[in-house]
Amino acid sequence: MRLVLLGPPGSGKGTQATRLKDELQIPHISTGDLLRAEVAAGSELGLAAKEVMARGELVSDEILLGMIRSRLSREDVANGFILDGYPRNVAQANALEALLADINQPLQAVVQLDVANELLVERIAGRAKAEGREDDNPESVRKRLQVYSDSTAPVIGFYEGRGSLAKVDGVGSLDEVFARIMAALGK
Ligand code: ADP
Repeated sequence: MRLVLLGPPGSGKGTQATRLKDELQIPHISTGDLLRAEVAAGSELGLAAKEVMARGELVSDEILLGMIRSRLSREDVANGFILDGYPRNVAQANALEALLADINQPLQAVVQLDVANELLVERIAGRAKAEGREDDNPESVRKRLQVYSDSTAPVIGFYEGRGSLAKVDGVGSLDEVFARIMAALGK
């Protein structure tokens, strides 16, 4: 199964992707995690991304495409993958479509997790206490939600136009939301 999970910061994409990975036995590819690993390693890419991420802005499309291309060239994606955090704008969606066409592995499903904004702010505030992520401060959270509605929300329309979008209510227990996603995938 080749799957994209779409949803605003705090919508539970990462948590649900981890469960999907265990259930479907395919890799979970989180661009946020890949970028945070680069930052932690102090690589050139990490240095370029660090400040941008801390501000809650988008790292360049070029950097992301290089990262995704290299990740999707690994053998463990032979049976599929779960993309979490990519694509985040329409240019990235087009780039991904071209890349997947090139390797003959088009997407099979796009799941959008739907959660109201007030709840997102609340959830991220809770996570900030638990995880101490540098971009979970109020200013950066506001920025990320803004970037989501300006740049990422149009990606929903992109996939709607291709008939591949399933909307899932992201409010409920982890088990409930997981069951809804599996149902949307026909599993
Ligand atoms: P969240 O969904 O909570 O915002 P992520 O871990 O998905 O968190 O992303 C953290 C940050 O990493 C983003 O705010 C952005 O700076 C950067 N990032 C992740 N994915 C992308 C992407 N596809 N394009 C550009 N920047 C990205």
